[in-house]
Amino acid sequence: MITAYVGLGANLGDLRRTLETALADLADVRGVQIDGVSSAWRSAPVDSDGPDYLNAVARVRTDLPPLTLLAALQAIEARHGRERPYRNAPRTLDLDLLLYGDQTVDLDRLVVPHPRLHLRAFVLRPLLELNPALDAPDLGALADFLPATADQVLQRDAQPLRLPHPDA
Ligand code: AMP
Repeated sequence: MITAYVGLGANLGDLRRTLETALADLADVRGVQIDGVSSAWRSAPVDSDGPDYLNAVARVRTDLPPLTLLAALQAIEARHGRERPYRNAPRTLDLDLLLYGDQTVDLDRLVVPHPRLHLRAFVLRPLLELNPALDAPDLGALADFLPATADQVLQRDAQPLRLPHPDA
């Protein structure tokens, strides 16, 4: 089993409900177990427009190969009716494969570690919440990248995301 990290983001509709439903969908994928979920973090959009985002990161244990996991994430996005009328348009739900064990992937369809994960506070903060000592291949200790993102305004939601019950 590999430990992977999945980034979740929403900025249209009922944000908390979208993230919680996406977590339930992720837990339903055969070969994926949710092993931890960060707080929900509210942020202003970067390189995008529209209302604020709600972001979170899930740690999963999986025996799916990376491209199969990506396909599962894209199927969940599609189920949430994501539409992309133009580049970086607001989206209902965005799922990114941030890290896949200590492996790197460099394909057209999939780049891991996610190329922008070390630049974005809304990814770094929840990742480091789950594991403050997290290392990423090619990048090293992710905590070292936090100071450079200090100008990105983020707010941690006090209310935890509701995790799907394992037997639900
Ligand atoms: P985005 O608009 O940021 O959701 O990007 C979606 C596109 O990025 C899809 O065509 C994916 O195949 C590609 N992609 C490349 N690397 C990743 C990754 N690590 N996680 C999710 N999508 C990725």
